Amino acid sequence: MSWRDLHCGELRSEHIGKRLTVAGWTDTRRDHGGLVFIDLRDHTGKVQLVINPERAADAAGVAHDVRNEFVLQAEGEVVARAPDAVNPNLPTGEVELQVDTVRILSRSTPLPFQLDEEHVDETLRLRYRWLDLRRERMQHNFRLQHTVIAAIRRTMDELDFIDVWTPSMTRGTPEGARDFLVPVRLQPGKFFALAQSPQIFKQLCMVGGIDRYYQIATCWRDEDLRADRQFEFRQLDLELAFAEREDVLDVMEAAVVASFEALGREAPSRPFPRLAYDDVMLRFGTDKPDLRYGMEIQEATEVTRGSEFGVFSGAPCVRYFVAPKAFSRAELARLEEIAKEWGAKGLAYIVVDESGERRSPIAKFLSEDELASFPAEPGSTILFGAGEPELVARVLGGLRVHLGRELGLAATGQDVFHWVLDFPLFERDDQGNWTFLHHPFTAPMPGQEEWDEQDPSGIQGQHYDLIWNGWELGSGSIRVHDVELQRKVFRTMGLSDEEADSKFGFLLEALGMGAPPHGGFAMGIERFIALMAGEPDIRQVIAFPKVSSGSDPLTGAPTPMPEATLGDLGIRALPQDNSSSA
Ligand code: ASP
Repeated sequence: MSWRDLHCGELRSEHIGKRLTVAGWTDTRRDHGGLVFIDLRDHTGKVQLVINPERAADAAGVAHDVRNEFVLQAEGEVVARAPDAVNPNLPTGEVELQVDTVRILSRSTPLPFQLDEEHVDETLRLRYRWLDLRRERMQHNFRLQHTVIAAIRRTMDELDFIDVWTPSMTRGTPEGARDFLVPVRLQPGKFFALAQSPQIFKQLCMVGGIDRYYQIATCWRDEDLRADRQFEFRQLDLELAFAEREDVLDVMEAAVVASFEALGREAPSRPFPRLAYDDVMLRFGTDKPDLRYGMEIQEATEVTRGSEFGVFSGAPCVRYFVAPKAFSRAELARLEEIAKEWGAKGLAYIVVDESGERRSPIAKFLSEDELASFPAEPGSTILFGAGEPELVARVLGGLRVHLGRELGLAATGQDVFHWVLDFPLFERDDQGNWTFLHHPFTAPMPGQEEWDEQDPSGIQGQHYDLIWNGWELGSGSIRVHDVELQRKVFRTMGLSDEEADSKFGFLLEALGMGAPPHGGFAMGIERFIALMAGEPDIRQVIAFPKVSSGSDPLTGAPTPMPEATLGDLGIRALPQDNSSSA
């Protein structure tokens, strides 16, 4: 016996006159006092079943008991709908199944929410995710995801990458987040860390002669959960031996383009623009600019050097950008609040009204020359930032993103991909110590291998980020493959040779045994899919995500463990004053 001849969404007028069996979930049931109509649904769509007691008395009896989400099998004849009953919005809308027999394969208890209900609390939806997944939006997202991942795998295969599995349980991996720890019963009191990424293993694969490695790798990072962050997520992780930066970028572009093409969408044209870090920081105030709109930041330090406006003349750096709207006082007050959130003391501006007249509390301090040096169309506002260059970049960059969104400047349906290159190799951490910007395995630019270990400022790394419409999709770099250079990077980060040996001794040993030049990349799969699907957060493309408290509403995990279990692992739990496990 087969459960079904066709999927629910596949019935068409060409099937009229055929006897067919379908199976699926009850989407709706309408009892018209005699005739019963049931919309039967599966992942392909819906079909209308008509149960007429005069034609099939038994079936009508069964249909009477049916409730939403019951699983049914129905057999009958495909007939044309009466002309006034044709539903042009439904692919199956020209036909219906005149049912002769119907079986209830599975019942459903009353539902915690209706599938088509709007504004259902997300935790409730995730608590009953098996219901939620039946929704069209979810079905669409997961099938889109499958198509994209299949296209990526095909591309990797065509480009001679091989899929190698690397361990999840390992030593800490330095990707800048906290590790999740796994206790080990066989060695009580000792812990594995769950891999934050396969970074070191993929490099060891290169030393091992794998040549081109890839993996859709699960990564674990103990960070606060956000719209684009979960404890566990996947990366398209890849590494190439004997590769230069352009080789890596080329592979990633191929994977992105193949994903668009697999979905039948217009792919971004290659090569994606390549922008330098210093340049984007100056022009957009961020290392992941949304290039769908302009509002580029302009230089005004020199022009305002001798200004009577002390905030400008005394500042190491003055910059501005022009927003395409003449803001009201109330709007400017709100923008000032935002600027302050980004660290500004205030917000200087010049409003250029529709007649071209310039209004500004600072106008009286600015000379004609100064005023004229900020070109702006009527109906716009010039917004200034003054202070240290980093602060100015942060404030104007933050305002630019805010206004880009608020003024709807990014045309929907536009997909702008670009690379950011030439990042600094090191930056200062909160304590003022030098640390890596990407991770400690990133190589310096060729020719920049010599630096003062106390002050590596100005040294650039071979690190690159891929950006889509202002979202960072992923990062990668050409790696250090020389053991002495790797030690030097560690020392610059304040890690003595002894500390480096104890933490990364195995990598240093491997680098000392014939490491080819190599580089790679990792792209966040969920973020890529969420953007592809037009979803606002990655939970919508993860089958069973966790909520922001860090819990899984479906299984109730994480849960406390019995003392005896912990004892076997050499662990004792400290008493907690809040017992929230929701
Ligand atoms: N391991 C890096 C990350 O997870 C990516 C890379 O450098 O390949 O961000």
